[in-house]
Amino acid sequence: MTAKELKDKLFYRKANAFASLNADEVCAFGEDYKAFLDDSKTERDAVRTAVKLAREHGYKEYVWGETLKKGDKKYIINRKKNFFAFKIGDKDSIVKIVASHIDSPRLDVKQNPLYEDGEIAYFKTHYYGGIKKYQWTTIPLALHGVVVRKDGEEIDVNVGEDAGDPVFYITDLLPHLSREQNEKTLAKGIEAENLNVVVGGIPFDDSDESNLIKLNVLKALSDKYGFIEEDFLSAELCLVPAYKAQDVGFDRASIAGYGHDDKVCSYPALRALFDQKSNDTVVVILADKEEIGSEGNTGMQNALFADLLTELAVYYGVSSAQLRAKAQCLSADVTAAFDPTFAQAFEKNNASLYSCGVTMNKFTGAGGKSGSSDAAAEFVGKLRAKFAADGVVWQAGELGRTDLGGGGTVAKYIAKLNIDTVDMGVPVLSMHAPYELISKADLYTCYQAFKAFLK
Ligand code: MN
Ligand code: MN
Repeated sequence: MTAKELKDKLFYRKANAFASLNADEVCAFGEDYKAFLDDSKTERDAVRTAVKLAREHGYKEYVWGETLKKGDKKYIINRKKNFFAFKIGDKDSIVKIVASHIDSPRLDVKQNPLYEDGEIAYFKTHYYGGIKKYQWTTIPLALHGVVVRKDGEEIDVNVGEDAGDPVFYITDLLPHLSREQNEKTLAKGIEAENLNVVVGGIPFDDSDESNLIKLNVLKALSDKYGFIEEDFLSAELCLVPAYKAQDVGFDRASIAGYGHDDKVCSYPALRALFDQKSNDTVVVILADKEEIGSEGNTGMQNALFADLLTELAVYYGVSSAQLRAKAQCLSADVTAAFDPTFAQAFEKNNASLYSCGVTMNKFTGAGGKSGSSDAAAEFVGKLRAKFAADGVVWQAGELGRTDLGGGGTVAKYIAKLNIDTVDMGVPVLSMHAPYELISKADLYTCYQAFKAFLK
C-alpha cells in the first residue's frame, strides 16, 4: 500500500461540502431560510413565524392533558416567546429532540427610556446578550416589540422593516475628535450607557415650554399607538438591526444576516421535523433566553419541557423517567467558524472550517470544559453511523483556542434530565455581530444532519 493509499484509509480529513452538494437544493434552501430569518428577528417574531409554518404543515395547538395518538402533530406556545412542536410516533419508539433558541443579542429599550438632550430625542437601552458594543453604533436599527397599556390593550410595534419606514440610530464620535476614545480598549470605547438611540428631533410647536422634542415624540406615539410615557413600564421593545438577510460573494456562497445565532439552526430543525417520516416521536424546541443563561419561564431551564415529556410518557404508558432515559437530543446551536483573519483565536485542527459542514461540539464550556455537559462517546458514535449512512458532510469542532474564552448552550439543561445530548449546529463568522455570516453549505448540511438524526 502506498503512503497516499494508507493516508486515504487512516487520516481524518475535512472537506468543503459545496463539492458534494446539489447546488440547486442548497440555493433553494438558502432562499427559504432568508425569508424565515427576516420574519424572525426577535423571539416573539420567531414564534409567530414558527406557528405559521407549523399550521401550514398541519400542526394544531396542544391542549394540556388531551389524549395523544400516533401521527398527532401539535405545538405549544409559551408566553409568545418559546415554542415547541411535536409529532407523535409509535408506542414502541423513542423520543428525539432538536433544541435551538430564537433569542439573539440586541438592545432592549429601558422601562423609562425617552429623554431629550442637545435638540435630539433618545431612547436609553440596556443590551441583551453578549455584544461588542461598538458594533451597534452607526447602523440602521428597527424597533420590534409589544407595549401593554394600563387598560390591558396589547400593542404590537414594528418600525424600520418596511420600505419607507424610518429607522433608528446610535451615534459614534467623529475620528477628528477621537484621540481620547482611540486610547481606550475596544470594550471601553463605547460603553453601555453610550448606546442611546436617536428617535426624534422636531419640537412640538410651543416655544414657552421645555422638552418639546420629547413631547412631540410622545404625541406621535400617542397618535399612532394610543400609548403614553407610563406605558413603557409594561413594554418589551427591542432594537434590532434593520438589515435584511442577503447573499454574500460573487458566487453567493454565504448569507449575511442578523440573528443567525440561532435561527440558522431553528429553521433546519423545523424543516427536518416537517419532512420527518420515521416512527419516532419528535420534539423541536425553539427556546428563549439562551443568550442570558436560559433563565426564566421561557428559557430552557423552565420546567415546561419536562412537563411536556411527562405528557408524552402518558401516551407511551411509561414513567417520565423511563421515557427520558431513552430519549436523544441534538442541542442545535451555532459555533464559531475558523476565521483566517483572527487565526490566533483558534486551534485550527479542532476549529470548525467554513463550508466544511455542520459542526458537532462534543462539549462546550470554558477552561477545563467547565459548564459543559460533554456528550458520551457512545452517543456520538451512534450519530456518526447515522450521518455516514445518509452521506451527511459534518465536522467535529471546538469553539476556539483553549483558555481564550468559551460559551455554553442549552445542552446541559437537557442532559441534566438524563437525556443523551450533544451540540450540533452551523459555524458562524462574526458571531453576535449585528450582521453575521454563514455558509449555505453549512446551513444545508445542518438540515441534512437533523433529518438523518430524526430518521
Ligand atoms: Mn446560540
Ligand atoms: Mn449566542
